[in-house]
Amino acid sequence: RDHHHHHPHVVVAAFPHGSHAAPLLSLTRRLAAAAPNATFSFFSTSKSNASLNFPAAATNITPYDVDDGVPPNHVFSGHPLEPVELFIKATPHNFTKAFQEAVSRNNNNKISCIMSDAFFWFLAEVAADINVPWVPLWTAASTSLSLHFYTDLIRQTIGPAPDDAATGEMEEALLMSFVPGVPSALRLQDIPAEVIGGDHAFPAMLHKMSHFIARATAVTVNSFDHLEPSVTQHLKYSNLFPTFLPVGPFNLIDIDMNNNARDNSSTDSSTSNNLVAHDPDGCLHWLAGREPASVAYISFGTVMTPPPPELAGLAEALEAIGAPFIWSIPDRAKHNLPQGFLERIGSTSDHDRSQGKVVSWAPQVELLSHEAVGVFVSHGGWNSVMESVSGGVPLICRPFLGDQRTNARLVSHVWGIGADIKDGRLSNKEGVMEALERVLKSEEGKVMRDKIKSLKEQAKKAVSPDGTSTKNFSQLLKIVTSPPSQ
Ligand code: UDP
Repeated sequence: RDHHHHHPHVVVAAFPHGSHAAPLLSLTRRLAAAAPNATFSFFSTSKSNASLNFPAAATNITPYDVDDGVPPNHVFSGHPLEPVELFIKATPHNFTKAFQEAVSRNNNNKISCIMSDAFFWFLAEVAADINVPWVPLWTAASTSLSLHFYTDLIRQTIGPAPDDAATGEMEEALLMSFVPGVPSALRLQDIPAEVIGGDHAFPAMLHKMSHFIARATAVTVNSFDHLEPSVTQHLKYSNLFPTFLPVGPFNLIDIDMNNNARDNSSTDSSTSNNLVAHDPDGCLHWLAGREPASVAYISFGTVMTPPPPELAGLAEALEAIGAPFIWSIPDRAKHNLPQGFLERIGSTSDHDRSQGKVVSWAPQVELLSHEAVGVFVSHGGWNSVMESVSGGVPLICRPFLGDQRTNARLVSHVWGIGADIKDGRLSNKEGVMEALERVLKSEEGKVMRDKIKSLKEQAKKAVSPDGTSTKNFSQLLKIVTSPPSQ
């Protein structure tokens, strides 16, 4: 071995599905900018790496591809969790193999720290074997992390995995009666399905995570102390984890390493960002001059598309109330929109005063910090929720998977910054109209807007020089870049 190199070598292992890798890279960029003498090797699948914003210039972050676990000539069924299951089966070997490659490409500079998506419990063992810290990032809320942490307690308390009907009956059962720290409005049906049970690779991985996460040197999240006070207190001070460090919202402090900090915190204007937004369809131009808080922005994230009857319900509701909107929907799903919809709302004619604009990718962070946007219709993915909080835009959530139900309940019943849809489905056109009108046009909507604006102020405070997220970040930096043991 070469013992001449003792600067830190941090390996960072990303979960390549959903919007998990981007926030981990965002955190890595901040750490790498703050620790120029450390080397960061970043691992994800080739597809995921290709979609990420790596610094263009030579910096101290190097991407490495890991095997995605998809067998040659595999035909996908279309189920969103299928590629996830295949990937999980390729772990941990795909990572450990690529780690070795990174070590040898860095003159055998030993790994000094393993950072990863919190899903990768097995890296706790890899880190223990080589005697380095394991620092997982939970890319969602502190609240959902806590629910996962208490998986065994929850399963023991509610009994064997209940079916949907039984969960329905227990709908009003409140969790706070037995899960420490969780907000009192959370019900059993708001828990991520993987906490309740399931024997596929994905729920099994999360169950393992609930056992291994306590071995982390520090656990970090894209949230801020003030947003989830009781859970944060619990995770910080009850000795469940050695160190718990909320360091978000990431989108307020993202670093472009070729340039400067993306400083959303000093201004509401989207135009002052140093990062140039990817806006191929001119959404920001289309928004210019619209009434404040008048436009609906719609996106269900990168994984889920609502089924056709729900797309139809939402489309009809938008047409019926006539609110201007921008709808980001992947090309693969556009044909499921109702017939004639694109023509009727003027999205095909490309003029500035059409009712709506349907695009396959929107500059979401910039839209949500634009004063014309008044409501975000979302699946409740955590990145989306944090971006809405940072922008001060109330939400209407239609959750589908994982932690989205928990997030949706936090939005509507804990923080009071969004409206529920009656019966929970977008196919209920009247329900959607009512929710949109409540947020955009009622007194109640104003109250939601005030509440989310005050959370936005708290978020900015958290990332300011004396803020909690800034202090937590300094602690994280110290742990991650501590010199390798000899
Ligand atoms: N996003 C975007 N433009 C789009 C759609 C999505 O920039 O048109 C980004 C959005 O800003 C967020 C991420 O994609 O950062 C979605 O993450 P989230 O956790 O909400 O959902 P997921 O994709 O994991 O379901």
